[in-house]
Amino acid sequence: MVKLGIVVPCYNEEDVLPSTFKILNDFMSDLMKSAMITSDSFVMYVNDGSRDRTWNLINEYCKHSFWGVGVNLAQNVGHQNALFAGLMTAKERCEVAVSLDADLQDDINVIKDMIVQYEQGCDIVYGVRSERKTDSFFKRNTALLFYKLMNILGVKSIYNHADYRLMSKRALDSLSEYKERNLYLRGILPLLGFKTGKVYYKRLQRVAGESKYSMGKMLALAVNGITSFSIKPIQYIFFLGLLFLLIALGVAVYALYSYFTDKVIPGWTSLILSIWFCSGCVLLGLGIVGEYIGKIYVEVKGRPRYYIENIIEKNKNK
Ligand code: UDP
Ligand code: MG
Repeated sequence: MVKLGIVVPCYNEEDVLPSTFKILNDFMSDLMKSAMITSDSFVMYVNDGSRDRTWNLINEYCKHSFWGVGVNLAQNVGHQNALFAGLMTAKERCEVAVSLDADLQDDINVIKDMIVQYEQGCDIVYGVRSERKTDSFFKRNTALLFYKLMNILGVKSIYNHADYRLMSKRALDSLSEYKERNLYLRGILPLLGFKTGKVYYKRLQRVAGESKYSMGKMLALAVNGITSFSIKPIQYIFFLGLLFLLIALGVAVYALYSYFTDKVIPGWTSLILSIWFCSGCVLLGLGIVGEYIGKIYVEVKGRPRYYIENIIEKNKNK
């Protein structure tokens, strides 16, 4: 039997929460009946600064529910930071934590297998999608491209694993030592180095509501994942510089040749083209460097990642 904490980040999830409450409630009771979890286990709903009625729902539910614990963040900090806030809060109260999206697209039944693997000695158990049929063509392929790119750039990550996973208290303790603000949990976990396991599941449709990962947020996560874990883009600028020097050498030879053979001065077209091309490359390079400088800026400030406004739960000792 383990003391389990399920951590559910919620952002504008008023449409799915009522059914999520019910499903997770039944699920926890089942787990307790089959003697897998202790009665002081919990489901922690972290409200990530929602603008709809999400917190009201969580607040009302957690006041009376046996399993629910509500955590209200003071403002929207994004999925990764909200999840981190939840995991760090849960860490003090449980033996193992499972992170789960509020829309229950990830099959909760495999949590049982996760617990079994934990009991066999795994500190981290990754939930891995065996297929992505429910995702749109666009999302499926951009995700695939992203994994490939991460691989080329030397960032270890687990293929088709998002943020559905079990972590032991020990793993959470080491995670808490990662002080970075630009969080990309999927990139950090392989660095922890504990014994890991995997469970496979089919990803389901969203129960209700729309994806809270807008195009912008998805892109930001991807850029964050790359620039927080790889300095290769900067190194590529160096090689680009070398290439440009080589081209310049060729151009010099050509210019000298034209000069001595009395040819007409090369035309305006090539000049204007190279000006545009070169400034484009310079700007691109500056953009990449700027991305890192921006990161240094954010990291050195060392601001706290989140504040918890209040925590609501039923007093079980009553
Ligand atoms: N989420 C969050 N803060 C945000 C955006 C999303 O806490 O700024 C939560 C959201 O409520 C959900 C999870 O992150 O529980 C994953 O979001 P979603 O299901 O919309 O992403 P998708 O499954 O489409 O990738
Ligand atoms: Mg989802």
